[in-house]
Amino acid sequence: KPTVAIVGRPNVGKSTIFNRIVGDRVSIVEDEPGVTRDRIYSSAEWLAHEFNLIDTGGIDLSDEPFLEQIRQQAEIAMDEADVIIFLVNGREGVTVQDEQVAKILYRTNKPVVLAVNKIDNPDMREMIYDFYSLGFGEPFPISGSHGLGLGDLLDEAARHFPDKPEEDYEEDVIKFSLIGRPNVGKSSLVNVLLGEERVIVSDIAGTTRDAIDTEYEYNDQEYVIIDTAGMRKRGKVYEATEKYSVLRALRAIERSDVVLVVLNGEEGIQEQDKKIAGYAHEAGKGVIIVVNKWDAVEKDEKTMNEKTKEIRAHFLFLDYAPILFVSAKTKQRVHNLLEIINRVSENHSLRIQSSILNEVIADAVAMNPAPSDKGRRLRIYYMTQVAVKPPTFVVFVNEPELMHFSYERFLQNRIRETFDFEGTPIRLIIRARA
Ligand code: GDP
Repeated sequence: KPTVAIVGRPNVGKSTIFNRIVGDRVSIVEDEPGVTRDRIYSSAEWLAHEFNLIDTGGIDLSDEPFLEQIRQQAEIAMDEADVIIFLVNGREGVTVQDEQVAKILYRTNKPVVLAVNKIDNPDMREMIYDFYSLGFGEPFPISGSHGLGLGDLLDEAARHFPDKPEEDYEEDVIKFSLIGRPNVGKSSLVNVLLGEERVIVSDIAGTTRDAIDTEYEYNDQEYVIIDTAGMRKRGKVYEATEKYSVLRALRAIERSDVVLVVLNGEEGIQEQDKKIAGYAHEAGKGVIIVVNKWDAVEKDEKTMNEKTKEIRAHFLFLDYAPILFVSAKTKQRVHNLLEIINRVSENHSLRIQSSILNEVIADAVAMNPAPSDKGRRLRIYYMTQVAVKPPTFVVFVNEPELMHFSYERFLQNRIRETFDFEGTPIRLIIRARA
């Protein structure tokens, strides 16, 4: 999917525009507490186009002096986006700060679309002419608070979307990423996996971000390791900001089939670990929990069990994810990773015949009758798989309102017990039979 970033000095209305464009998608919240998307990155749609939107203003750089903040925002946009929306405030005219942003954006080879916000009615249109002086061509008048002009602006942005999809790996290539807090050992693990001292990447200015994916082959299976935060450009200030690394992680997750959630075995589980794992779950990816630095843990025969319990208690929503204890330092068990990745990837794209599914349903209902409410009983007619990655099933019933969460959970568990879905979330969609 193409990515659009919104850049501009503070208070021009970046987050208003962001919220307008993504609509209510941002408020999608998981059942589990703590799993909420940060309001700086979301998928969005305009006509037939699907794209990702980044509000660079939401990336907290407040410790930095102003000029440094906008420089970093603009750089994030230039790194991450296919199209940049440069937002200014029509009511204030061109400011020195706008000119500073413009100066930074001159350096990019990405298309920049200039949007003049707070043009709330047609009489104000002439206020946009000033902004030609910024040097980005025709300014697009919009009103974030009234939702005006966004269609034309997005049309213009979409005109610059790359024709080709950003990646075209073969269908049978397994794409995976390692996500986790800084310093848990993601890069070290990648290095061990690749059997090199260092991840070698071609980081030539101007190449697309695809260039930093690492493709390799092992035992006749092809893999792509999707780059995440912390594996390149180490040392850039903004890399350290939490929201930016979350954004990088989200982008990597989206492009992966399987996500390795890397934890530091030496430390307890932290809120940030849960948040990151929540994203992978929410995105419906295959998930493997990797406990790294196991060499550094003082342990006896109970330690692994205890750690497993701790992880299970903290990641209730990831009860399907296998856990592997490794050490990038001693390479212990790192060689098992690919095998588990293969297995999880296979489960993630597993297809089950309807006839077999319906036997499972019949058995389940016989074992535990469907719930009823006010004398009406839920009737399950049939179930069929409608998608893979993750496996998604539609259950046709008489009245969807009669389905209880607990019964849905029960059906899920029956499916899991019958088929090998280790490592992958599965989804049930309850529908009334037409
Ligand atoms: P990243 O930020 O997640 O990519 O983490 P790095 O791979 O850069 O590792 C962070 C630090 O942890 C480095 O100093 C590594 O040498 C160290 N480290 C990584 N893996 C292990 C491990 O398995 N055991 C020990 N003891 N140290 C590790």
